[in-house]
Amino acid sequence: MFTSGGDPNLERAYRTHWAPAGHVEPASEKPRPRPKKLTVLAADHAWECTLCGEDGDFFLKGESGGVCLDCADLGHLEFLPSGDAALTGRARKASRLSAVVVRWNLRRNRYERQGILAEPAAIEQAARECLSDADVRARRRVRDSTRRAVEDQRFQGEFAAAIREQFPGCPPERAEAIALHAAARGSGRVGRSAPARKLDPDAVRLAVAASVRHVDTDYDDLLLAGVERDTARAEVFDRVESVLSAWRDGAAALDT
Ligand SMILES: [Zn+2]
Repeated sequence: MFTSGGDPNLERAYRTHWAPAGHVEPASEKPRPRPKKLTVLAADHAWECTLCGEDGDFFLKGESGGVCLDCADLGHLEFLPSGDAALTGRARKASRLSAVVVRWNLRRNRYERQGILAEPAAIEQAARECLSDADVRARRRVRDSTRRAVEDQRFQGEFAAAIREQFPGCPPERAEAIALHAAARGSGRVGRSAPARKLDPDAVRLAVAASVRHVDTDYDDLLLAGVERDTARAEVFDRVESVLSAWRDGAAALDT
């Protein structure tokens, strides 16, 4: 082991030997094996490259000290800070060569990941892919909400038609209003019960009865006056039933 912590990435970085660029084997036609995972340290103190004497923001640990990115043939890579996992993952995938950047945290006594080094073109490509993903998601959101609106509208139309079928005397604008209320209440939530969705006659009748109770009787006034709900309902029951039965028979106008 080269490090006290024995971190696998760091161990690998230590084991990696760096050769001058001239000694790199010529590119062959065969696909190259995936390069090893490199670990680069972010400099947190003054240091000097053991090969060229320069310093920099990042270095690799060589056998006899720090080696700068240029001397390690990594000078063309660009730093991409951590924070966007999708962007980082894509940049690494698109980059033929990349390295993980870590920094020693003195207080926590451990290495912490700062980001990666990757080819600038790969980072750009990754950013473009992430942006187009965001576009797709935005378009999907619009499409979904449009579809919901269309569904709500269709449901509302069907509900109004079901009301008029069961209660031919219900004024069309009342049927529309009751249906609108039923559709709005249920939009995308559990409020729209399964029977109502199926336009079950009972569910339709309940919706109409509720509307009549609130609009055509003094039920709301009774509640406001503190009358118990059951008592208030019993009190307006006959009135509700007579409106419903008139509407069921096709009589739109009622004397009050
Ligand atoms: Zn150097």
